[in-house]
Amino acid sequence: MANLIMEFPEIEIKQDEPLMRYTYTHTGGPADWLAFPKSVDEVKTLVTYASAHQLPLTVLGNASNLIVRDGGIEGLTLILTKMDQITVNGDEVVAQAGASYIDTTIAARDHSLTGLEFAAGIPGSVGGAIFMNAGAYGGETKFAASKATILLPDGTIKEMTNEELDFGYRHSSIQENHGIVLDATFKLTPGDRDKIAAKMKELNERRAAKQPLDLPSCGSVFKRPTGYFAGKLIHDAGLQGYTSGGAQVSTKHAGFIVNIDHGTANDYVNVIHHVQETVKKKFGVSLETEVRIIGRN
Ligand code: FAD
Repeated sequence: MANLIMEFPEIEIKQDEPLMRYTYTHTGGPADWLAFPKSVDEVKTLVTYASAHQLPLTVLGNASNLIVRDGGIEGLTLILTKMDQITVNGDEVVAQAGASYIDTTIAARDHSLTGLEFAAGIPGSVGGAIFMNAGAYGGETKFAASKATILLPDGTIKEMTNEELDFGYRHSSIQENHGIVLDATFKLTPGDRDKIAAKMKELNERRAAKQPLDLPSCGSVFKRPTGYFAGKLIHDAGLQGYTSGGAQVSTKHAGFIVNIDHGTANDYVNVIHHVQETVKKKFGVSLETEVRIIGRN
């Protein structure tokens, strides 16, 4: 296989780079090639190369909603966190895909724009937030994002409207069209800076009181099953504290799995399967993962 570092000396690329250095769970094997594009042109160059050479391509944002298996990721992985510009034009905030969602909420606050407070503590990137329709405390990305620029697998760049993004519960059309989010525009409303700041502070305090933010995790592991709460089912099944290797169902928030002691992706997957089987047996409810499990075994 060609050496991508020599092929693209102008782009930052690492070979056999352990992804546990980047994932929020602190787990995951190496990416064959991990590239850190700084511009849309660099993304396009790498995507074109991968497609011409049948190299599997994976895109990561902040890796806060992912479990990368211990075998790592085959082919080329792009991590977009160096594309992190945020611009405010009137009541619109335009953020590149790799910008932190939290920084985007801070930019909105600092320009006295309301509508993104709900995301003040969501640790993903803007691209990941669009892909997942990230949401919290009654807010959803769906209600703030007016459009996003997408690089489609055929190499074309398309501006997709909110309707075309087809947001649903932890869903957007990017999950089906396999595009790469390049940037997103949030259409917000002028508001009172102090009120916006107070709301963000309140939500972050609620989050810190409920969630095990002092330990590595990937947030809520399971989607909310219709008519139930995943955390409550897991709590009622007596699973809090259940441990496999170094991964444990959080004793603070049953919906989280925390890395308490050098846990591996395999430990995470074992805990997930045990939780799914136990909840199914006890309550007849199937828990579907919200977190995405990718990579080689
Ligand atoms: P990643 O984990 O890097 O990727 C997730 C998926 O998105 C992958 O399939 C990836 O391929 C895809 N993706 C990422 N970027 C792009 C892109 N530019 N183009 C195309 N595809 C892309 N989530 C919530 O919704 N609400 C919460 O309140 C919340 N709280 C959390 C708290 C903690 C402590 C943690 C660790 C996580 C939490 N999460 C929450 C989960 C996570 O932060 C969100 O799902 C976030 O939107 C994921 O963004 P990311 O950049 O980390 O995506």
